[in-house]
Amino acid sequence: MIEGGCFCGKIRYALKEREYRTANCHCSMCRRFSGAPFVTWIVVPTKGFEYTSGNPESIRSSDGGMRYFCASCGTPIACVLDAYPKYIDVTVGSLDEPDRFVPTMAIHEDTKLAWLAQTEELQETDPKA
Ligand SMILES: [Zn+2]
Ligand SMILES: [Zn+2]
Repeated sequence: MIEGGCFCGKIRYALKEREYRTANCHCSMCRRFSGAPFVTWIVVPTKGFEYTSGNPESIRSSDGGMRYFCASCGTPIACVLDAYPKYIDVTVGSLDEPDRFVPTMAIHEDTKLAWLAQTEELQETDPKA
């Protein structure tokens, strides 16, 4: 099983071992929901996903979807679109091994932050120095 969970550990989940479609979403709802420039999601068939510890809080983010997050620490966990009830989108950042899923598509690029393209090659420096 592939496993993940929230920052504080109250919510844990597991999904079937396999490859998943992986996308960077640049929509403004993902940005607000996460507090990050964009969110990387994997698209998981609901029947292969289960919460193994805790239950997330939910909020309707638009007419078309529900978002799920940890009520204790705030970690964004998942999103289910009304139009695709057989799938749950899971945040790659909440996986235990996020590096194994490489995004192969970008969505809602019309609202992508303009500076993202020019920051992809930044070198590591100490921001407090
Ligand atoms: Zn938590
Ligand atoms: Zn989005």
